[in-house]
Amino acid sequence: MAREAASIDASTFQFFTRNPRGGKAKALDPDDLNEFHRLADEFGIHGVLAHAPYTFNPASPVEKTAEFARTALAEDLERMEKTPGQMYNMHPGSAVGQSPEEAIDRIAVTLNEVLRPNHSTTFLLETMAGKGTEIGKTFEELARIIDRVELSDKIGVCMDTCHVWDAGYDIVGDLDEVLAEFDRVIGLTRLRAIHLNDSKNPCGSRKDRHAPIGEGHIGLEALLAVTRHPALSHLPFYLETPHDTLARYANEITLLRNA
Ligand code: FE
Ligand code: FE
Ligand code: ZN
Repeated sequence: MAREAASIDASTFQFFTRNPRGGKAKALDPDDLNEFHRLADEFGIHGVLAHAPYTFNPASPVEKTAEFARTALAEDLERMEKTPGQMYNMHPGSAVGQSPEEAIDRIAVTLNEVLRPNHSTTFLLETMAGKGTEIGKTFEELARIIDRVELSDKIGVCMDTCHVWDAGYDIVGDLDEVLAEFDRVIGLTRLRAIHLNDSKNPCGSRKDRHAPIGEGHIGLEALLAVTRHPALSHLPFYLETPHDTLARYANEITLLRNA
């Protein structure tokens, strides 16, 4: 992955820790790890972001589902220590039948069980679109989770531009105000990564359908305003746009860098 990233002029990348819709993780191969460190050095790749599978729901009232999230999260966080100091991102979870308050409690309980003082990984909670009963559609919900986490110095937030837009934050009309609100509710120092995506739907649609950069309702100008904003320009940006070839991602990176 480091080689692929470098081939399209990327300086970082995101990867899934296991099948995004599945369960068991592949065994770690020490040769792969050594090769990763060598290539990352050679190509100047830093700050890679691991993404938890979508199937993790630590908010679930179904004990089997919550237990799977707990076990797999603990395992992922141990594995992350083979590449110390990176970031790990998770969708907070879905309430399915409970109040957001109960779901938030369960998420925090799980985080308190899996986070260890010796972990060097920064654990990111992603801003969500609010599809179904998703938690994380408001900055307040994320703040309430973070407030309940004991080792909260390890917690950061990953802002997904498609998700916040779909959740109703108008980053096209008033990015400054959205960031001011983020700062008031969560604190901008928690913001550690950006998922840079356009959206197939209007603001507040709660859909979560990503569009290629410049081909959705957010548009190229507003996304460039995100990458250039003084409060954000130092952050790593990750494309999660729907493309099936590496060449299209290369084009997007060129477009964003040279616009
Ligand atoms: Fe995500
Ligand atoms: Fe995302
Ligand atoms: Zn999404």
